[in-house]
Amino acid sequence: MPRDYYEVLGISRDADEATVKKAFRKLARELHPDVNAHDPDAEAKFKDAAEAYEVLSDPDRRQQYDAYGHEGLRSGGYQPNFGDFGSISDLFSAFFGAGGFEGTFGGGGRAGGPVQGGDVAVAVEIELAEAASGKQVEVTYDARARCHTCNGNGATPGTPIDTCPRCQGSGQLQAVSRTAFGQLVRSAVCDVCGGDGRVPREPCVDCRGSGMIVERKRVEVGIPPGIADGQRIHISARGHAGERGGPNGDLYVLVRVAEDSRFLRDGGDLVTVIDVAAPLAALGTTVEVPTLDGPIPVEIKAGTQPGEMLTLGGRGMPPLRRGRTGDLRVVVNVTIPRRLTSEQRDMLERFADSLTDDNAREDEGMIAKLRRVLAG
Ligand SMILES: [Zn+2]
Ligand SMILES: [Zn+2]
Repeated sequence: MPRDYYEVLGISRDADEATVKKAFRKLARELHPDVNAHDPDAEAKFKDAAEAYEVLSDPDRRQQYDAYGHEGLRSGGYQPNFGDFGSISDLFSAFFGAGGFEGTFGGGGRAGGPVQGGDVAVAVEIELAEAASGKQVEVTYDARARCHTCNGNGATPGTPIDTCPRCQGSGQLQAVSRTAFGQLVRSAVCDVCGGDGRVPREPCVDCRGSGMIVERKRVEVGIPPGIADGQRIHISARGHAGERGGPNGDLYVLVRVAEDSRFLRDGGDLVTVIDVAAPLAALGTTVEVPTLDGPIPVEIKAGTQPGEMLTLGGRGMPPLRRGRTGDLRVVVNVTIPRRLTSEQRDMLERFADSLTDDNAREDEGMIAKLRRVLAG
């Protein structure tokens, strides 16, 4: 169902031509890919707005639409026609011309104008203990950079640079196409000079005249304590160099935290499992428990049951920003001795004979036990 054109532009049905134009420019500013790169629907929204503008800014078409709606327009021969534009930027230049939008928008998006460099993504892997303490890492990657020999102008130093013969220095070529709703002027970046408007007579040998080289970059990245697997660190302006004076792209460092065989991570908490032999769990003992700072002795109380959990406060992961340091939860796995010698077997048989109901009686009541199980 096509939406109502007045609704799309957010104007009343008696809006005059200037209001139509103003509403469309305002929408275009909001939907421009330079501002709104993160809205996946921006292109579709802009196409809707462009279609509404095309109809409402044309007196004949508007009259037809007012009288007969979308159907009337279709039977009158109007067909929205934006499918053949390669990208939303092309669509923008079709509507606003090469320089036309610049006044509205203040630079950017102009064919042949400054273009921001692309972003670079690199991944680093660190240990869990490093994720807890934080770490400085050096990342290396290839990125487009301005050529040092020609300083980006593409000419062998000391040689002249001519005005581009194809575009006469404008950096753009204009193509006029006829559509159902009249002439549409599209501009494209000049294919000879690449939008610079200037062509070096003797191209720089290091960059073959492009002004750009690929450079190996090294960047120190501070990974903050508490980082989780899969989080990204954003470092601005360390990506590919921009074109024609545009700013650099950004660097994104994806942090992978390697799995640690001793710990499971549960948010800020760590969970570990320790084995305690059944007789020691019955008698009580002290065991070594691994922590991120090395093993520490932990007391296991007499009568500790399988699956019981001890909590070592503050032995988990630090908070990434604000908050408290997590805990280390220690799950006791009571192990039953296997492969008994005949002597052990005799002792255990005598021990088994000595068992009474009182040995199986729990210290905590039924309700307390249920609560513990449900909370665990
Ligand atoms: Zn060069
Ligand atoms: Zn040119």
